[in-house]
Amino acid sequence: MSDIKHGPVVPTPGALGVLRPLPADAVRLTPGGLLGGWQARTVAATLPHCVASLEARGNLDNLRRVNGDTDAGFRGYWFADTDVHKTLEAAFWSGARPAFAAEAAALLEKAQDADGYLNSYYQDPERRDRQWTELHFSHEMYTAGHLIQAAVAAARSAPGDAVAQQVVSVARRFADLLVQRYGDSPQTDGHPEVETALAELYRVTGHRPYLDLAARLLDNRGHGTLGEGRFGAAYFQDHLPLRATTEVTGHVVRQLYLLAGAVDVAVETRDEALLATVEQLWDSALDSRTYLTGGQGSRHRDEAYGDAYELPPDRAYAETCAAIASFQLAWRLLLATGRAGYADEMERVLHNAIAAGTAVDGTAFFYSTPLQRRTGHDSGDENAPGHRLDWYDCACCPPNLARLMASLHTYAATGDDGGLQLHLYGAGEFSSGGRRVEVATRYPWDEQITVTVTGTTADPWRLSLRVPAWCTDVRLTVNGTPAPARAQGGYLRLHRIWHPGDEVVLTLAMPARLVAAHPRVDAVRGAAALVRGPIVYCLEHADMPADGTLFEDWELDATAPVAVAHHGSGLAPVTLRVRVRARTAQDRPLYRDLRTGGSTAATATVSAIPYFLWANREPGPMRVWIPLAAPED
Ligand SMILES: [Zn+2]
Repeated sequence: MSDIKHGPVVPTPGALGVLRPLPADAVRLTPGGLLGGWQARTVAATLPHCVASLEARGNLDNLRRVNGDTDAGFRGYWFADTDVHKTLEAAFWSGARPAFAAEAAALLEKAQDADGYLNSYYQDPERRDRQWTELHFSHEMYTAGHLIQAAVAAARSAPGDAVAQQVVSVARRFADLLVQRYGDSPQTDGHPEVETALAELYRVTGHRPYLDLAARLLDNRGHGTLGEGRFGAAYFQDHLPLRATTEVTGHVVRQLYLLAGAVDVAVETRDEALLATVEQLWDSALDSRTYLTGGQGSRHRDEAYGDAYELPPDRAYAETCAAIASFQLAWRLLLATGRAGYADEMERVLHNAIAAGTAVDGTAFFYSTPLQRRTGHDSGDENAPGHRLDWYDCACCPPNLARLMASLHTYAATGDDGGLQLHLYGAGEFSSGGRRVEVATRYPWDEQITVTVTGTTADPWRLSLRVPAWCTDVRLTVNGTPAPARAQGGYLRLHRIWHPGDEVVLTLAMPARLVAAHPRVDAVRGAAALVRGPIVYCLEHADMPADGTLFEDWELDATAPVAVAHHGSGLAPVTLRVRVRARTAQDRPLYRDLRTGGSTAATATVSAIPYFLWANREPGPMRVWIPLAAPED
C-alpha cells in the first residue's frame, strides 16, 4: 500500500477509464463554501451524532454481546452492523473520531469468528444454524460489503496506521471466507453491495480473487437463485442476467449498488460491453424514473422504481440512500467515460435529494425525500415523516450521509495526463501532479467561479471547467480578458502554458427558471417547478401569507416575473420571489362538472426557498411542483 491518501473509487492503472481521481490529500474544500460547509458540519455534528446513536441504539452492544461483554438483547435489524461499518468508514475518510475508530476496530476484531465470519445477528447462538442459508434475505454479504468498504477507507486514509490495519485485517479475513465459500458457487446475495466493495478491496490489496468473486456474484444474478421473495425476483434484480437487462427495476438502492459494482468490475476487467450495459440502464433511470431533485424510486411498498414516468411528488419514496448510490454510480461512470452528463447528475442529486437528507444542524435526517408534503400529513410512518428524525429503526441513511460527506472533497475534481478537470464547484484547492488551482466562489448562490493557478508545470496543460447543461449563458475571462466560452462535451477546455497567479473567471448565468415535466408525468401536469442554477426550489408554509388560505390552494402566476433575492443571513442565502394566487377551491366539492370556474380569493408575492432547506422551521406543508394558475375568469 502506498503512503498517498485516496478517496473512494481508485481504478488500477490498467483499468478502463478516461479520468483519474485526485489523491485525497491533493484536494481540500473550504468550510466557508457550501460543499466544504457540509463536510465540516458532518465532522462537527453528524459523525458524533452517529457515534452516539450507535451506542444509544444498541449497535455497539450487539457486537459486545457476541464478545460476551454484555447480556443485553440484540437490537435493531439483522443488518445493524452496517451502521457501525458506515460510521467507521466516515471516521476514516474524515480522520475524525479516532477513539471511536479504535473501539469499533477492537470490537469487530474480537467478535469475528475464527473462520472470518462477522455478523452480530447471525452469530447469536439461536441463529448460528441459519448462517448462509437465507441469502435472499439475510444481507450477510451486504453487511460484509460495508465492513470491506470501511477497510478500504482505512487503507486509503490512514496508510500505516495500526487501527486502520486492524480493520483491513478483519475485512480481509471475511473477504477470504467469501472467496472460499462462494468462489465457485452459483449463489449471490439478495442485497448487492459486496460487489463494489470486493472490487475496491482488490484495488487496495492487488489480490485478484476479490475481483473475480465480485465478477462472479454479478454474473450469478438473474438465474433465479434468490427465489421470488415477497416482491418478485425483479425486486433484487434476479429476474434477468444483468447483461440482458435494458431498464432499471426493483429496489432502487439494490439496483444502483449493483450497477456501481458492475462499473468497478467492468473497468478492472476492461469489459466494455458490461460498461455499455450500465450506461444504458443509467439512461433508463434518467429518462423516465428520476425526480427533478435527482431522487429515484416512487414506490414505498418495495422501495422500488415505479413504472416509467410514475413520479408522484407527494408519494415520492426517493430514499436518501438511493440518491447517495446514484451519486456514487455517476462518479464511477464519469471516471470511466469522462462524460459531463454524469457530473451534471452528481451536481443535481447532491444539491437537492442528498442535501435534503440532513437538517441544518447536522443531527436530523430524512429517509425518504418527497417533493410535496400536504397540510395535515400523516407522519406516523417513519419512512414518510413530515420532518427529519434524529435516527431511524432502519438507520441506513444517516451513516450513509456521513460517509459520503466525509469523502466529498474527493469527488469534485479529476486529473488526466493532459491536465486538471473541475466537475463540482466549491471553494477549495485542487492539485494534480504539479498543477494546482485555488477555487474561490459562493456557488451555487453566486454565478461567478474564480480559479487561480497556484502551481504549475513548465509544459502547457489543459484546465477543464464543467459547463452544466442547465446553463445557456456562459462567460469567461482569463487574466481579465474576455475569452471564448465554447464548451466541448460539457467542458470549457483551456490549454496553455500556465503561470502562478493566472486567473480564470467563469460566470454561469443563473436566472430563475420555470420547469415543466414531461407530459407523461401525469402527477405534475399543469404544474411548474422553480429552479435556479443547480438548485430546485420549493414553497413552504412558513413563507406563505397567514390569511387562512390553505397551503394547497395557492397557485403560481407564471405570467409574473420571478425575482432572485440574495440574503446576507437567514435560512436561505438566495430565495426566489414569486407571485401566487389562491382560488376559492375550499368551497368546491371533491368532484364537479368540468368548468373553468372559481375566482381569485387572494394574491401574494412570496419567497420560494431551496428545496434542500425545507423542514428546518416549524413542521408544515411544502411543495416543489406548483399548480399553474388558470387565466383570470
Ligand atoms: Zn437509507
